[in-house]
Amino acid sequence: MKKEQFFKSVLPDIHFTYSQMTIDIIGAGIGGLTTAIALEQKGLKTRIYEQAGEIKQVGAGIILANNAMQVYEKLGLRKEIESHGNIISSMNITKANLKLVSRVDLSYFEKKHRVKNVAIHRGVLQQILLNKLQSTEINLKHSLKHVSQAGGIPSSTFENGKSIQSSMLIGADGLTSVVRQCLFPENKVRNAGQVCWRGVVNFDLPPEYKNELNEAWGRGERFGFVQIDKDKVYWYALKSFKKHKDEYSVSDLDSYFSNYHAVIRDIIAATPKERVHTAMISDLKPTGTWHKENVCLIGDAAHATTPNMGQGACQAIEDAYVLSECLNKYDTHAAFEKFQNLRLPKAHHVVKTSWRIGKMAHLSNPLLIKARNLIMTITPPSISRKQPEQIFQLPAL
Ligand SMILES: Cc1cc2nc3c(=O)[nH]c(=O)nc-3n(C[C@H](O)[C@H](O)[C@H](O)COP(=O)(O)OP(=O)(O)OC[C@H]3O[C@@H](n4cnc5c(N)ncnc54)[C@H](O)[C@@H]3O)c2cc1C
Repeated sequence: MKKEQFFKSVLPDIHFTYSQMTIDIIGAGIGGLTTAIALEQKGLKTRIYEQAGEIKQVGAGIILANNAMQVYEKLGLRKEIESHGNIISSMNITKANLKLVSRVDLSYFEKKHRVKNVAIHRGVLQQILLNKLQSTEINLKHSLKHVSQAGGIPSSTFENGKSIQSSMLIGADGLTSVVRQCLFPENKVRNAGQVCWRGVVNFDLPPEYKNELNEAWGRGERFGFVQIDKDKVYWYALKSFKKHKDEYSVSDLDSYFSNYHAVIRDIIAATPKERVHTAMISDLKPTGTWHKENVCLIGDAAHATTPNMGQGACQAIEDAYVLSECLNKYDTHAAFEKFQNLRLPKAHHVVKTSWRIGKMAHLSNPLLIKARNLIMTITPPSISRKQPEQIFQLPAL
């Protein structure tokens, strides 16, 4: 579709020239920034509004799985991301002593899709995305307070007193999205009952662990670690709580994992506790609609998931690609509908499967743990591969 036609479809009653039009994005997370890059590359003008005073990620890593890296290949970012991160060629579930329970060999997918899985520091990724933007206007210290729509024109007001009208608004403002709360107030955030600690530490991993993600499952808790750069390890630890995350304290982290493998104990001991980021794990109960008139949600705002499949950001990155392709081909409403039809089944599959994995990973009954581990150990690789096979496939556009 021609750009002029595209903008006419967005605001049929108002005459704008193409150069006057913009698409406004709320949120400069991985989803918002990737969407702006994808839209820029289609020749569309974007403005981002971000609540923070500077664009800075928590001190943690992230795994960009094969589907996300296929998108970054299309956006011309693969090489740079690979060169600033660490290639991961298998994802392992182990016992607390790092004895293997199940393994997904990623080399099969590397060959199939010709991209690799990359573990990288979140801050480094964010900087790469920011550097790629050319014309997008980024407005920091703009915390969205309210969005309404009249005659298909989204009006946004910010805590700093500013207000804007948009031809089209994309809500990329994460799990607690204000855009979503204004448009779909019935949607519910679910607490998974798990506290999560994350850290990045200078650590020389034994060579056998350097190109894999290992997640050790114990009794009601687990510990994952992966190299993200030379001598830099990103780790995360989760523990089930009964009522509130404050039942557990970062200062006792060593004791929660005292029966884990020495490498895990050493990683925890090497990380200054004041640099550990603590959060509660939540997701968004799957919802049927992501768009209304000229506003559309993407990423965590639309389909936040628990992190158990390492797919939250990857799904946001897929959204960015699919939405930009749809907006390039169809008028706004058809584009939003097509985007939702193409993305919702997979995004919801991730949310639901990840929720189940979270429960399974945190079993505490020793008999059930034994049965679970046995089933996972004897599952043939061809079956273990089925899940990522489906998730790593981008939709045909
Ligand atoms: C422990 C943990 C580990 C994870 N590991 C992985 C992983 O390995 N791989 C993976 O793919 N995913 C992972 N995820 C998930 C991933 O972090 C999220 O899915 C991803 O960050 C979502 O991106 P987003 O851009 O949609 O939202 P966000 O990253 O939440 O970004 C939202 C942005 O909007 C801004 N914002 C919020 N409210 C407002 C407002 N009112 N006004 C203006 N701006 C606003 C925020 O400041 C932020 O910049 C993990 C998540 C957790 C919790």
